[in-house]
Amino acid sequence: MEGRTKILLHVCCGVCATSVVERLCEEGFEVTAFFYNPNIHPPEEYERRLKTFLKVAEIMNFPYLIGEYEVEKWWERIKGLEKEPEGGKRCEVCFQLRIEETYRIAKEMDFPFFTTTLTVSPHKKAEVINRIGKEIGEERFLIRDFKKKEGFKRAIQLSKEFSLYRQNYCGCIFSKR
Ligand code: SF4
Repeated sequence: MEGRTKILLHVCCGVCATSVVERLCEEGFEVTAFFYNPNIHPPEEYERRLKTFLKVAEIMNFPYLIGEYEVEKWWERIKGLEKEPEGGKRCEVCFQLRIEETYRIAKEMDFPFFTTTLTVSPHKKAEVINRIGKEIGEERFLIRDFKKKEGFKRAIQLSKEFSLYRQNYCGCIFSKR
């Protein structure tokens, strides 16, 4: 691993981590994953996604950190945006919270770069996520659109190979309804 550039990768779930970690490693990064998702509802679902992520970390053998499950903080941030449609303002705030915390840890632990798996989802706009990442982390944020070059397809392929649990909603109570 000598000579590789360290990067802290915010991970939204184990499935998305698969192809993104693979791609960043191919690009020559030394990846540490950071699971921080206080948006996930209910707690049983949070535990299930965390467990899936830990399984991926074990199979792919990468180091990781687990953030706090700060549900109240998430609710505080999205206050007034409950009725927003998926992909709207509430999601921007939800991305912001998770990217901010990743940036805080990246600075604290001296990671020269950080980014997020969020852009691998075909339902999420990379321009929005990258804009927020740059606003928060400036030069330290690595702009990527991981769904490009069939990144999402590869995540599904690897998740089948690893027999992973795949959720059918984004995460919050509103996306579950
Ligand atoms: S739909 Fe997804 S991104 Fe949007 S607020 Fe809910 S959990 Fe966050």
